[in-house]
Amino acid sequence: MDNLSCEKRSKIMRAIKNRDTGPELIVRKLAYRLGYRYRLTDHSLPGSPDLVFKRRRKVIFVHGCFWHVHPDCHISHIPKDEHWRLKLAANQERDRRVIELLEERGWSAHVVWECETVDLEKLSSRLRRFLG
Ligand SMILES: [Zn+2]
Repeated sequence: MDNLSCEKRSKIMRAIKNRDTGPELIVRKLAYRLGYRYRLTDHSLPGSPDLVFKRRRKVIFVHGCFWHVHPDCHISHIPKDEHWRLKLAANQERDRRVIELLEERGWSAHVVWECETVDLEKLSSRLRRFLG
């Protein structure tokens, strides 16, 4: 894959990521139904977490399994193409760093993976366990 088609694919993939549909919306709706109140996408925090529970000093990221390289996941796979491998490795590194930065500031972070948004019962107990 050359750079141009890579660039193109990035563009397409970005367009697909719509915050008001898919996994992020599922997590938002579920957290709300469980009685948790939160703010969306706080850009003042490292990594702009998707859901911010200010009073609890907790944040949730909703990660796509491919983009953020969910280990041992059926959706995630390591592409053969070098450019993509590097790109995904950089994403993983950034995610690690973001969580470190948040913890340094006294926040706890939890990642909900895209594939975890299928089983709502399991997801509910995960959210409850994290948010208390
Ligand atoms: Zn996954």
